[in-house]
Order: sequence, then C-alpha cells, then structure tokens
Amino acid sequence: MLGLMQEWPLLCHKILDYAAAQHGDREIVSRSVEGPIVRTTYSDIHARAKKASQALEADGFGLGDRIATLGWNSARHMEAWYGAMGVGGVYHTLNPRLFPEQIAWIMNHAEDKALFVDLSFLPIVEAIADKVPSLRKIIVLTDADHMPENSKVEMVDYESWIGRQDGDYAWKQFDENTACGMCYTSGTTGDPKGVLYSHRSNVLHALISVQPDALNLGSNEVIMPVVPMFHANAWGIAHSAPMVGAKIVNPGPLMDGASIYELLDTEKVTMTAAVPTVWLMLLSYLEETGKKLPHLNRVVIGGSACPRAMTEAFQNDYDVQVIHAWGMTEMSPLGSLGVMKPVYGDLEGDALLDMQEKQGYAPFGVEMLVTDDENSELPWDGKTFGKLKVRGPGVARAYFGGAGEEQFDEEGWFDTGDVAHINANGYMQITDRSKDVIKSGGEWISTIDLENLAVGHPDIQEAAVIGIVHPKWDERPLLICITKEGKSPAAEDILEFMQGKVAKWWMPNAVAFVEEIPHTATGKIQKTELRKQFADYRFDDG
Ligand code: AMP
Repeated sequence: MLGLMQEWPLLCHKILDYAAAQHGDREIVSRSVEGPIVRTTYSDIHARAKKASQALEADGFGLGDRIATLGWNSARHMEAWYGAMGVGGVYHTLNPRLFPEQIAWIMNHAEDKALFVDLSFLPIVEAIADKVPSLRKIIVLTDADHMPENSKVEMVDYESWIGRQDGDYAWKQFDENTACGMCYTSGTTGDPKGVLYSHRSNVLHALISVQPDALNLGSNEVIMPVVPMFHANAWGIAHSAPMVGAKIVNPGPLMDGASIYELLDTEKVTMTAAVPTVWLMLLSYLEETGKKLPHLNRVVIGGSACPRAMTEAFQNDYDVQVIHAWGMTEMSPLGSLGVMKPVYGDLEGDALLDMQEKQGYAPFGVEMLVTDDENSELPWDGKTFGKLKVRGPGVARAYFGGAGEEQFDEEGWFDTGDVAHINANGYMQITDRSKDVIKSGGEWISTIDLENLAVGHPDIQEAAVIGIVHPKWDERPLLICITKEGKSPAAEDILEFMQGKVAKWWMPNAVAFVEEIPHTATGKIQKTELRKQFADYRFDDG
C-alpha cells in the first residue's frame, strides 16, 4: 500500500522559490570582479535566474544540456546555476586554477554547450574556445560597459542577454532524479572524473547540511562561502543558504587575509567556510595587525586536515568555534563534521583539541565504514585504520561516462580512497589518502598526523610528509617544511618538538626546508609533485 501524501519532487529551483517567498529581502553581497561590492536579494536573484532560464531557452538550451560556469562566488554566478537548472540543464563548474588544456579536456568530456564566465577568465576562454566543438554560446558575467573591445571569441554580456527577457517564466518540471549539476574531481592521479548531481541529491544534501549538528544554518546567519562554487558546490552553500534564508557574503576573486577580513568585519559575517590555506592567510593577517573577529561565531574547515594549531588559534585567540569537516566532490560534498556529541560536551583544553583533530561524525544521510583490503569491516575502536567507504543519497553511484568503476561495489559502497579509523562514538579520523600513506617495515605511518604535529611548531608555516625509499624499511618519512617569515629553526629543533608526541618509529628520518610546497587546484598539498621533486633524495643511512 502506498502512502497518500503529495508527490512533490525535490527540485533545486524550489529552494529559490522558497527563498524569494519567505526571505525575499535577505541580502546577497558580492565582491565583484569589476571591483565594487554589489548588493542584491533573494527576490532579485530569483527574478533574474528566471530571466537566465528564459534566455537559455530562447537560445535553444534545455533538458540535460551541460552549461559550464567559470566564475568566482557571486550573485550572478548563483543566478547562472539556478537559471541552468530551471530549464532542466546541468550547471557544470570549472576550476579556473587548472591549466587551460585541462579545462578544455573536461569541457569536451562533459560536452558543454554554453559557458558563463567571469571577466577575469577571458584569457582562458580565448585559449580554449576553438578546442571545444560542442560550445555554442559564451555569456560573460558582466554588463555591456565592461565588455572587452576586441576579442577573437564571440560572446555576449550577461546583463544585456537577460535584459531582453521579461522574467515571466515557469521553471521546467521533471523527475527529481534528473541531473542538475556537475563537477570534476581534481584528478591527482589519472584523468579527472565527472560527478553528476541530481536535483534530489542536492536538495537532500542541503537539508542534511543545515541541521544543527551539521552547519547549523538559519535565517539569522550571515554566511561567507570562501570555498569556491567550483570546489565541490561551495560545500552546498548555494543551496543550503537560500533554503533557510541566510544572508550570503561572496568574497569574489580576493581571498587574501586583508580582503577576507574586510568582508567579515563590514558585513558582520557569523559563519564562514574554506580550506586551511585560506585560514593561514587570515590568521597571519590578524597576527600582524592585532585585529579581532567580534562577529564571527564559527568557521568550517575542510578539504585538507585542519591542523591543531589552527583550531587552537581560532578558538583561543579569537573566540571562534572551529568545525572540522570532511567530504568529497563525490559526496556533494559533506561527509562528516566535528561537532561534539553530549558524551564530549564537557571537553576543554587539550582534550577538546584532540577530539577536533578528528574529522567528526557522519550526519543522517551518510553511512560509513572502514574495511581491510579483503573488504572485511574493521572495528570502531579509534585506532584500527583501513579503507573508508560511504553510502547515502548525496553520494555518487557512478562517475559520468563510467570511469572509476572499481571504486563502487555491489552493495552500493563508494571507496573514498581515504584511509581512516572510527572511534566507538562514531568519530572518524582520516590518516591518509591511500596513495600517500607510508609503508615502513610492513606497518603504515600516517602522513597527516605528522604534518599536523609539525605545524604545531611555532616557526613552521606549512608541512608535508612523503615516503622516501629505504633499503631496510621500504619507506621512511621525510618532513618537508616552509618556515614562517624571518624564522630559521634547525631540523633537530623541529624533530625534538615532535619527539614523544608520536610513536618513535613514526618520527621523520630528516627535515627538508623549501621555499614553496606545491598545491592542487583545490588547495591540497600536491604530494605527487613533491615525490617527483624528491625522487632522488636518500637518507644518510639509505
Ligand atoms: P575534493 O573532492 O577536492 O573535496 O577532495 C576530497 C578529498 O580531500 C578527500 O577524499 C580527502 O582526501 C581530502 N579531505 C577533505 N577534507 C579533509 C579533511 N578534513 N581532512 C583530511 N582530508 C580531507
């Protein structure tokens, strides 16, 4: 017997309908690529997204068409997403930090038909437009006055393009499992793989992420997604914020400490989210200027492990709560959040920081387990680590075009490629990417634990640990560090600082100081590159 409740397909544009109806005046503030701060509202975004849908339809785009975007976080970028989804199209975020050839490869793989692009990225478009045969239309997210005089590529400005429409448009209706969004993984090994979100998965992910024990979002919140919309959906914020009517503050192209601070302060941001590298810049700026963060209540940190010293600085020096989160493009992306259950409610000081080094527990809608190489489930004892696998309505069940089949099993589990352990209370801790873990004498050493420890040294800015071949142990850890400006600690000093805080046999054999540590387009340490740089490195005893 079926229930007698209404069919109400979970479609993303219903989120924007809701925001306009209930929170129409709530602001969206964006630092524009043209320079000025631009203010708009959910009502405006709703009306203009409908015009974007109308204009896309007038140009012949519709159900299933991939509509690419190459832009910073902004109100126009949000309108482009909802406009694309409103005609049944699929917004496809491109990461401008990739090389133009990689972007062209991804666009061809996805067969993108239209492209919304920020002015800042026109050089990329000029380099690739004739290499993507499926591309029929380029819309520049600006107005007529800011359009370049001469361009070898044909394009229109967004404002004139939507300006021709009256906005009298009914969103298209279809099954909630229809594709609505797309994002490629960064492809640190092999080609990037396409993740294809559905309306249903995005709506459910937004509902999951606004929960009090997740991002805890409501209409009183002022949220600044520093994490870009092209990095795993800005962690869902372009869907979850309008779902509850939170004010959004978009940082646009400027993510240096001073620019981020300016918006946090002037817009009285209460909650923000980004990868650790962004917060390193903000914390250095605050340290230099002596400024404080009186409005900010919490910061969500993920994408890479959040170092203990960073959590400590935010919480102890600025009274800002850190929520350490883990997720993946393949998971829409939220997978776990480090908020404290009652059992840890009284933790403080070091005990709390210990728990916050973990990536937290899975919210409703995410199932997780760790297995050994034979696929047997491992105990939740907080120390036995193995392959981390996940399942849920916001988790991919395949990649676009059937790539990476081996990561999905028959029972619906997705192998994340991360190595982790889970404690008795469900708190998960990533110890490595499976390809980065160091195998020493048949045992595994967690590079993330060592990195977190090293950056706790007051003179270290950033640290990365890689395995170096060793005649006796197969591999041994090398600690690679960037020091803080004006500091030059000795290697022994750093090793002494780490001594006693990890098992003796985990201790790095040596420390190398470098000027720069390479990062991927989503801000992760590029260990493949470091391994290449240190390919000929050998320890004294190796
Ligand atoms: P992406 O799809 O670019 O977001 O990358 C996902 C990967 O980033 C995960 O599989 C992890 O390896 C890594 N990652 C994300 N969040 C964290 C975190 N809090 N700690 C450690 N690694 C993380």
